Amino acid sequence: MKTIENISRMSTFVKIMKKEGKSIGLVPTMGYLHEGHLSLVKAAKKHTDVVVMSIFINPLQFGPKEDFQKYPRDLKHDEEMAREAGVDVIFYPSLKDIYPEGYATYVTVEKLTGNLCGESRPGHFRGVATIVTKLFNIVKPDVAYFGQKDMQQALMIRKMASDLNMDIEVKIIPIVRDDDGLAMSSRNIYLSDAERKDAVVLYQSLKNAETLIKNGERDARKVIKTVEDMIRAKQSARIEYVKLVDTKELKDLKMITGEIALAVAVFFSNTRLIDNITIMVK
Ligand code: AMP
Repeated sequence: MKTIENISRMSTFVKIMKKEGKSIGLVPTMGYLHEGHLSLVKAAKKHTDVVVMSIFINPLQFGPKEDFQKYPRDLKHDEEMAREAGVDVIFYPSLKDIYPEGYATYVTVEKLTGNLCGESRPGHFRGVATIVTKLFNIVKPDVAYFGQKDMQQALMIRKMASDLNMDIEVKIIPIVRDDDGLAMSSRNIYLSDAERKDAVVLYQSLKNAETLIKNGERDARKVIKTVEDMIRAKQSARIEYVKLVDTKELKDLKMITGEIALAVAVFFSNTRLIDNITIMVK
């Protein structure tokens, strides 16, 4: 495995791989790797010849009051995990290489981004769409891998790739969870012991809602209220949103029908965690 730290060297590598007729899989990350990231690598290794993992903490997608400065970083550890998982190249560009002085071009996806995290994090998805476009142009992958954990992000990228004729297949990989159900996230490291215990309520409340829906509940408001009540019962939790949406346009639903997603964003102190489940309702 090699680590490539600048764009021009990455481009040279990509040219050589393309000449050899190799397919490229890209796994974009912000590092501080866990099993969730590695599940994307595993999928990439199945379908493509060369697996490139990018590690770049993208300031454009963080709000002014968010955790860009203190986002966890550990390249050495990431390199070990990535090597073991079979990553061929870590692409680890510098901030200056990606956004040189005078940088002025941004990508906005005007559907799928208004609700959920788009509502509470203005500019976030513009930042994500911009960096992912740049990574796509640099790495030129045949397939790119995203996690269902960030469902809205993954659907937005798929739409962007299609709208802009990028000729890249966007694969969405299921959420990897700790044994107790908490979705793995680099941000879980911020949680105190008490918060970590409370955070299990996210998955528990989603699973409880799933049971309600499977037992016939079709009123979205009632399901949302049940999830909210369960989360509120945890002392350290502060809800940002609990939403029930369709999985095509991510619009709020009143009646539960078709394929739906139940998505939550909850703060534990300053740590913002998200989770979701999708359910097919006939
Ligand atoms: P991040 O480094 O948090 O930006 O995540 C990089 C990629 O890994 C994104 O596509 C995420 O959706 C995905 N990812 C993060 N956590 C998980 C998880 N627990 N299970 C599956 N994929 C994940």
